[in-house]
Formats: sequence, C-alpha cells, structure tokens
Amino acid sequence: MLKKLCKIICIVTVIVLLTSSCGRGSESAQTFNPSSPAIKSINSIKPAVESSTKVDFPKNIYKMDVNLDTKSKMLTGEEKLTYINKSKISLKEVYFHIYPNAYREKETTPAQFGFNETFPEGFSEGNMNIKDIYVNGKVSDFEISGKDKTILRVPLKKELKPGSKVNFNLNFTVKVPKGKDRLSYYNSSYNFGNWYPIAAEYDDKGWHLDSYYSMGDPFYSTVSDYKVNITVPKDYVVAATGESAREKLKKGLKTYSFSESNVRDFAFTTSNKFKVKEEKVDGINIKCYSLGTDKELSEQMNYATNSIKIFNRFYGKYPYKTYSVAESSFLTGMEYPGIVFISDNPVYKKGGYYEAIVVHETAHQWWYGVIGDDEVNEAWLDESFACYSENIYNESIKNSREYFLQLKDYYYIYSKNNPDKKVMLKPVQDFKDDMEYSILVYYKGAVMLDDFREKVGNENFFKIIQTYYNRYKYKVTRTEDFIKVSNEITGKDWNEYFNKWLKGE
Ligand SMILES: [Zn+2]
Repeated sequence: MLKKLCKIICIVTVIVLLTSSCGRGSESAQTFNPSSPAIKSINSIKPAVESSTKVDFPKNIYKMDVNLDTKSKMLTGEEKLTYINKSKISLKEVYFHIYPNAYREKETTPAQFGFNETFPEGFSEGNMNIKDIYVNGKVSDFEISGKDKTILRVPLKKELKPGSKVNFNLNFTVKVPKGKDRLSYYNSSYNFGNWYPIAAEYDDKGWHLDSYYSMGDPFYSTVSDYKVNITVPKDYVVAATGESAREKLKKGLKTYSFSESNVRDFAFTTSNKFKVKEEKVDGINIKCYSLGTDKELSEQMNYATNSIKIFNRFYGKYPYKTYSVAESSFLTGMEYPGIVFISDNPVYKKGGYYEAIVVHETAHQWWYGVIGDDEVNEAWLDESFACYSENIYNESIKNSREYFLQLKDYYYIYSKNNPDKKVMLKPVQDFKDDMEYSILVYYKGAVMLDDFREKVGNENFFKIIQTYYNRYKYKVTRTEDFIKVSNEITGKDWNEYFNKWLKGE
C-alpha cells in the first residue's frame, strides 16, 4: 500500500519550515546530477537476465465460484480448496482467515486512513457468514474466534501428515460495507481485497493467526494456484488477479473466469463505469481500468507500462502474462498479485501523486507479490523496497532524485524530533501511529537502501537485488535472507550495518 503521503508531507512540511537544519548530508534536493561522485546514474547498469519461473514446492489450489448481487451488496460464494500440509508435523486442524468479519463492528473495522475518511458516511457493517464446511466430502464442525472474529478453525477427523492433502468445500456469503477500504463499495465501484476464506500459514513459528490490524497490510501468505469464476450484472466489468477467459452471458448476468498460478492472494474490483485499455510490454499484457477520462486512462497506462519496463530491467522479469491496474474508490493504492487498486480521487491526478501510487503499487508486484514476506512481522521487506523503487523509477526515467531527497529530509527531521522512535523491524501492531509506521517502514527503509547502495556501488547493489529476486522467487523471505545475499555478493559482513538501521540508530 502507499500511505497517504500528502497528509504526512503536509505535517512534515510544517516541521521543515519550523526547523532550521536537517540531517540530509552532502546531497541537495535539486535535480539529480549524474556526475555526482556518490550516486551514479543507473541507466548504464546491464539489464537483469531472465531466470527460471519453475516452482518446485507444494502449493494449495483454490477454485471459487462467486456471485455479486449489487442490489443487496452481498456476495455468495463456494470455495473448493485442495490444501497440502507443507509443515514437518501432522496437523489436527487447519485455520483460515475470514477477514470480512473484522467489519462487523466499528471498533474492529480496519479503517486504513482513519475512520471518517475511509467511511465518509459512517459505520457500515460488513461480514462473512460461513454457511457450511465439508472436509473430504463430509460435513464438518468449525469454530470462529479472535477478537475481531476473523479466525476460522476447522478440526480434522484424521491427522494430516506432512505432504498429504485434504479437500475443503466452504459455502459462504460476504456482506460488503459502504466505504473506501480494501473490501467495500462506493459510488460505482466494488473492492474485493482479502475477501474469501484463505488458509492461514503454519511455519516454524506455528500458526500465524493475527487479527486484521488497522496498521500496515497485516497479511502473510504463500503462493497457490487459483481458478475463480465471478458473476456480476452484465453491465459490470471485472478486473482481477490473473488471466481472463471469454466472459459468458446468461439471463442479464455476466460470468468472468480468471486463473493464475503461483500467486499469494486473489483480488478483484468491479464497476459499471470502467474504461478499459490494453497494451503489451516485454510480452506482458497490461490492462488499465479507469473511472476517469480517456486522457487519464492513457496517462495511467503510461505509468503502468513504464514501471513494468523499469522494474523488469533493474530487478528481473515480472513472471506472469497479465498485469492489471484498476481505479477504484480506495483512498490511495493497494497491491494484490497481478492487480493493484488505485484511488479514483481526481485531486491526485493533478499532481505527481497519482503516478507515485501506480509506480509504488507496481513495485509491490516484485516486493510482496513474487518475493513474499510476513507483512505483519517484517513489513520493511516489501514497503521499504516499494518506496525506494519510486526513486529507482524517477532516477531512470526522469534523471531526478528530488522526490527521494525530500523524503530523506522528512525522515531525518522526524528522527531528530522523535529520538525514541527508531525501530523499523517490529510487528505492525507495535507501531504507535500511522506516522511512525510510515516514516520508519517506508522512508527510513528507503533511506537505508540508498545508503547501502552508495556504500556498495550501483553494480553490486543491482547484482544483490537481482540475485535476491531470482533466488527467492515465489518464496517468503526474511530479513536475514537479504543480508545473506548482500554478504555473498560483496564478500563483506553487513549484519551489524543492517541491524543498526533496522533495530536502532
Ligand atoms: Zn506499499
């Protein structure tokens, strides 16, 4: 997600005006000078080489059929999940996240940008009702727990051995709340992010059963294969994760069929006001869905294609055939595999903010999408990289570091005024407020990556990024994995360096 930087920038600008000095160091916030001895132009870096996209580990398989009734704002769905035990122990139960239940009550609603902005017309209830669950064809008991009622436990009659599979059938409904959140409807658009029962992860730390926190993107999932049929009124267009087959029309309804392999989630948005444009870049089909004018749709496409080209070149190729950028009633932007939601707020289209949202969310396709991380406990692994990617884009396409240098100033001013707030590697729920989370996880992380780049040089920096991307493609990384690759490429030990940035100083 891209935090609401406008708000933060306004607050920090006031601090800048009130503060006479800051800790930026030697560079000034002017147009990037390619001859600067510290930071050299990146466009001479050799493009990343294409690497294997094969997956050699077990995955879950989701097949879903869902039907959206736009009159009652209800979605009815059936999910068939082939679940494989990827752990080393036998499982007696399987847990799911049923995130829509967090919208049952105002107190647990995960309003991303403050309640009033996310829900301008006040609290609107959303929920998930699990009608029944079958395990290997037999009706099963289940329990719902957690302070926001988002944890679903399904006991298994027979223990599931490591490497064994079990089939779940879940019948459910989702009531969509009115607002501008990941799951919501507003004006003509519907957002379906984190909307279906998704298997919780079990790893060496046990089951990950976090609530749907308001801070950050509190999700963690491994890659699966998806086949999803979505039925909507025939005048609605659906934008979703993955590739789409031809739509089917029946009795005033249209069914869209999407499929994708090796993705860690599935999201969609739908509207009866979409303008659609498609282009091919580096063999990837880019689809843009706009709620604005034709000119705005073309600009959206330019930002999307440029981002894909730049990140393909500097990080390694986007491995899927389709990428969708869809406007929706969302407050900023939100990343999902193969699709991003971009705010339809016309104010953003006047400045550079709209472009920044598209670039940031597109970068998440690499950092979160292909390379996964536990976004609850190590959010810097995707947000710092996505934030710094905005700078990589600006340096490559605009020959400018101005935006990054402003951000660097904000970080140093915040750091000076908040000497007790330094730790960026901690669980999302431990950050005191949105400002602390944004400045540390986004800005400080980006400043750290820039400092690291200056220390190792452009060539080593991109070699590290590309090696890291290729090695952990479709997997989940931890902080130590990035440090390990950095040590390996440079032949130096960077543990102390990163620990200082991540946990202190
Ligand atoms: Zn983000």
